[in-house]
Amino acid sequence: MKRSFVPVSAESHFPIQNIPYGVCRRGGQRCIVTAIGDFLVDLTVLEALGWLAVPALHGRRVFDSGTLNAFMAQGRTVWSQVRQRLQQLLDADEPALRDNAELRARVLVPMAEVEMLLPADIGDYTDFYSSREHASNVGIMFRGPDKALQPNWLHLPVAYHGRSSSIIVSGTEVRRPCGQMLPPGTGENTGGGAAPIYGPSRSLDFELEMAAFIGPGNALGQPIPIAEAEEHLFGMVLLNDWSARDIQAWEYVPLGPFLGKNFATSISPWVVTMEALAPFRVTAVPQHPPPLPYLQESTRTTYDIHLEVHLRGEKMGEATRICTSNFRYLYWTLAQQVAHHTVNGCNLRPGDLLASGTISGPTPDSYGSLLELSWRGTRPVNIGGQTRTFLLDGDSVTMTAWCQGDGYRVGFGSVTGMVTPALSPHSFPLPPPQGGKEKTART
Ligand code: MN
Repeated sequence: MKRSFVPVSAESHFPIQNIPYGVCRRGGQRCIVTAIGDFLVDLTVLEALGWLAVPALHGRRVFDSGTLNAFMAQGRTVWSQVRQRLQQLLDADEPALRDNAELRARVLVPMAEVEMLLPADIGDYTDFYSSREHASNVGIMFRGPDKALQPNWLHLPVAYHGRSSSIIVSGTEVRRPCGQMLPPGTGENTGGGAAPIYGPSRSLDFELEMAAFIGPGNALGQPIPIAEAEEHLFGMVLLNDWSARDIQAWEYVPLGPFLGKNFATSISPWVVTMEALAPFRVTAVPQHPPPLPYLQESTRTTYDIHLEVHLRGEKMGEATRICTSNFRYLYWTLAQQVAHHTVNGCNLRPGDLLASGTISGPTPDSYGSLLELSWRGTRPVNIGGQTRTFLLDGDSVTMTAWCQGDGYRVGFGSVTGMVTPALSPHSFPLPPPQGGKEKTART
């Protein structure tokens, strides 16, 4: 088994088999980095010194712009050659970096010393809805068991266009959103005619998701055939699609999620490449009925990625694991998502982010949201001697994921976020009293 000269424990998410990519702030500069054990390797410096000049780059630099977009745009040949070069440089038997103390001092940095940033400029963000178990659970709760899945669900990967401006990196606090909702106790089924109120969300939730970064894009008007879809996938991160269920329930008809979702979406800082995930390919769940030909794959594969969600209240010492799931449960694969997204000619661009939708599994302990875990608030979840139906101020949600190899893990690190109290309604600008300022302000 390949091994690095940098010590890496068996539980570490970042052995030499991984080589994820991220962006950090180092000495006031944005640097592109990879991770090995508890260290970062500064690729911006390594490239500037000529160590990453692989043949397919033909002298171009891709790690000098402070985001991964330029590298993502290169495609598989460059990705693969850079990965091989880095694995070679970090190998236990390779002296070039191992025995060069001056170079090591310049490029190897303890992970704890730097702040991780968003890995890319995310132009567009799409959130799919690809877990059959999640879609069914939500359908049963809101429409009853007879209409659990909408008629389109088994025929296409349902999605909505999200908002990229509020995608934040792990560790960023999440303020409880305020918005418009029906008063508590008047669900949308029973609230016919009830007047909405304005205030802080009372049913703030997380959604356990993963998301894929797009590599090379497609020209407007040129769909990506499903057989070529994987060439457009650079790598994956963990994603928490924070959701205000009360705002969402009132606003979503008929155009879908809006302010119940776009106040914050957290991602993990390390992008794990599809090449690093390749050894963990597994057969994807069978599809009945078969989808239309443009969504049919010659072999249906996905990835065996173990997923966990941990929740810690403000004054609790320890977090409690409240969900264990797996990426392989998803009904629609990444290739199907890419083929469907572009079938109308929609163009994807390097750095676009496609999220999976909440990844729920078949058993109640594998549900990927509090909405499902607490079954819409009817079955409170136990954590550290307390219970939760939805998130309280001060709660921290941490998601983690890894692929288990023989004696090593290819991991994603984690995505974490703490809920902070809503802004006081008084800090919002209120309309001026009648006959007051407004008149004089108008000209
Ligand atoms: Mn979602």
